[in-house]
Parts: sequence; structure tokens; C-alpha cells
Amino acid sequence: MATVALKDVSKVFPNGTLAVDNVSLDVNDGEFMVLLGPSGCGKSTVLRMVAGLEDPTSGAVMIDGEYANDLTPRDRGVAMVFQDFALYPHMTVEDNIAFPLKLTGMELTPREERVASVASALGIGDVLGRRPSQLSGGQRQRVAMGRAIVRRPRLFLMDEPLSNLDSGLRAELRAEISGLTRELGVTTIYVTHDQAEALTMADRVAIMRRGVLQDVGTPTQVYGR
Ligand code: ADP
Ligand code: ADP
Repeated sequence: MATVALKDVSKVFPNGTLAVDNVSLDVNDGEFMVLLGPSGCGKSTVLRMVAGLEDPTSGAVMIDGEYANDLTPRDRGVAMVFQDFALYPHMTVEDNIAFPLKLTGMELTPREERVASVASALGIGDVLGRRPSQLSGGQRQRVAMGRAIVRRPRLFLMDEPLSNLDSGLRAELRAEISGLTRELGVTTIYVTHDQAEALTMADRVAIMRRGVLQDVGTPTQVYGR
């Protein structure tokens, strides 16, 4: 559980591109915030600054009220899922999901229990023994999500995780992702250019255009205006 606050955050890349222009945004504890806007408007850059993968040129990122600028991604307690997820091809589904827990030194029994509960929430409990090559695209994305969430991060960051999937699967996974994050109570920031995704998943939507934050509110608020 965590809060995130962006305070007057800007990002200018070395080539002079102003990708993010003075954005301030508060994300509440346990909230599902969707960052919505067309390609190139700065969504990924915002997410990468929250994750600690990119430094703001000016302004500050705060996590739980503390300045995060000097914290590594690991210290921030973030887990991230991208559209181009990479699973370990030689490992089973179970081992893929368990891998981050092994790194923390968790014992076998609690590890197996944790993996089983995440896998069952994501509907992949029956394919734990398979390897990634033996899964559908949707199943692979579920494994990637399971691997990200299994450590119970403070913050869950997703960048267009469904954009490579067909529309039926997208709809199914939307519901699963919102269900899972709410069940875990994990604060989530979800980047998409898909308005339907924003409307169905978000507690609140933050709409970006050309690096600027244009509007923030519940789906009803921002589309009722
Ligand atoms: P979105 O996620 O909304 O598609 P991005 O945050 O990826 O947008 O990009 C915002 C703008 O910043 C775009 O104009 C993009 O080309 C530019 N940009 C992103 N990353 C870099 C980079 N590493 N160097 C220079 N420009 C970048
Ligand atoms: P998306 O729109 O899905 O965020 P992009 O194609 O904009 O993806 O960016 C993919 C990667 O390329 C990102 O890591 C981004 O930082 C980088 N990138 C984007 N635009 C530029 C650019 N103009 N110069 C250098 N790197 C860039």
C-alpha cells in the first residue's frame, strides 16, 4: 500500500524533447489510477519516473510522503509490467512466478502457497507445470502479471500491458487485473491510450496531452464534463 505524489514534474530529454510538462498528480492509497492519452503524450515517461527508471528534469516524485528521487526502483517497492513482457523460457509457469520470491530467500512452503494463490486469482492455476512456449498469449501475459505482483509490491505500474492481445482477451484481462489489484489493495498506475480500458478499470483517470495533464477525475467526472 502506498501513495504517490508528483509535484511539478517535468522531463526534458537530452535531445530537447519536452516529454512531461509540469505535471502534478496525487494517487491515493489502494487507488487504481489510469493515465490516458494518445501515443507520445508522455504517459510512459511519467510511469518510468515513478518507477525510478528515469529522473525528472525538475520537480519531485514522492512515495508515501517521502522524496523518492534518490531511491532505486527496488527501494521504491514497485513492480512493473510492459506490453513486451519477457518470461524465462526454460522455466515452468510456477518457477517463473516464484522466481522473485526465491531471490528474497522465502522458504519453499510459503512460496508455493503464495504462487498458488496468485495463479488461481489469474486463472492460470491449471498450467503451472507448463513452459511459456506451451501457453497462449493471454496466459503468458497473466504469468507476467503474476510474477510482478507476487512479491506484493507497494506500487504496481502497468504500461499498455494488453495492447498486444486481441479484443476478447483484453476485455477478460481488464476485469481480472482490476479484480486482482483491488483484492490485494495495491496502489496501481495503469497506462493506456484506450478510452474503454480507462472507463472500465479506473477509480480515477488522468488525461494527458502533449506532456500536460489536462484533467483528473472519476470516469463519470471526466466524461460528464
Ligand atoms: P507515451 O507513453 O504517451 O506514448 P512517451 O512518454 O513514450 O509517450 O513519450 C513522450 C515523448 O517523449 C514522445 O515525443 C517521445 O518520442 C519522447 N521520448 C520518449 N523517450 C525519449 C527518449 N529516451 N529520448 C528522447 N525522447 C523521448
Ligand atoms: P510507447 O509509445 O509505447 O511508450 P515508444 O515507441 O514511444 O513507446 O518508446 C519506446 C522506447 O523508446 C522507450 O524506452 C522510449 O523511452 C524510447 N524513445 C521514444 N522516443 C524516443 C526518441 N525520440 N529518442 C530516443 N528514445 C526514444
